Amino acid sequence: MSAFVKESALIWHNGRLIPWKDATVHILSTAVQFGSSVFEGIRCYKTKNGSAIFRLPEHLKRLHQSCRIYRIDLAYSVADLVDACRVTVRENGMEACYIRPMVLRGYGDMGMASTVNPIETYVTAWEWGNYLGQDGEQIGLDVCVSSWNRPAPNTSPGLAKAAGHYNNAQLIKLDALAKGFAEAIALSPDGLVSEGSGQNVFAVIDGALVTSPINGTNLSGITRDTVIKLAADLGIAVIERPIPRELLYVADELFYTGTATEIVSIRSVDHIKVGDGKIGPVTRSLHSAFQDIITGTVPDRHTWLTSI
Ligand code: PMP
Repeated sequence: MSAFVKESALIWHNGRLIPWKDATVHILSTAVQFGSSVFEGIRCYKTKNGSAIFRLPEHLKRLHQSCRIYRIDLAYSVADLVDACRVTVRENGMEACYIRPMVLRGYGDMGMASTVNPIETYVTAWEWGNYLGQDGEQIGLDVCVSSWNRPAPNTSPGLAKAAGHYNNAQLIKLDALAKGFAEAIALSPDGLVSEGSGQNVFAVIDGALVTSPINGTNLSGITRDTVIKLAADLGIAVIERPIPRELLYVADELFYTGTATEIVSIRSVDHIKVGDGKIGPVTRSLHSAFQDIITGTVPDRHTWLTSI
């Protein structure tokens, strides 16, 4: 048993459940050599009406899009993968967990862009709590602007959630941690706010939400979309527009969104306090609207929950 991950019993591989420890790939598979692997990160919540997976078809649709961008022939439909995710959570006996489907180019031919190697599809799931820690949840995060930029449009395609892209994300995160920050906000090559290492970024300015457009440098986050829809429910205006770096220093509120991260307030950027340094009212109301849905406290009016 690893000290780092709470291992679950089973992993879904190409249509059947196998023991966790048997989900291995060869060192010379294209995915290991060249990062040819696309994936998703999804959460299953324990709601008042039983366990339910949040925005499952939307995540699996994005997985299909990542495959299409990288010319990976995925043998399973969104509906097949919905079943695979449900069965993986159920058969592992988990109530709340993080689900990580992965589709990768396997072993055989050694060419860099091999299309003959088998495509391996996995659905893994494990129990995973608060990604950015209790402090993030309770008081907000101290973050920096990364010294690493996000890739330019038409380099690593931003809409694809591909493992290789996460080398850039690792540089962003490692840079932040080395400087004593919890996370970072990375800029696009033109110096505008792009996203975190694994999060989209929102600012609150004069009561309205402002977020960067999806512009080829950032991921089209599903939690980002969730927040935009919850803001509409709450009558909060949302403006998608380029964000200059310095807006981070003068915004009333800032927060991250992401599946692992959920909705987490940012209380300082580069040691400059955001607003009064406390979790602001707009962040709080969106956070609680989100909590109401994922706990099943309010009806699932957007049909975002798939029961297991
Ligand atoms: N950007 C990046 C680079 C990410 O890895 C993630 C996490 N998937 C996000 C944004 C947020 O996306 P989502 O809300 O769909 O999890």
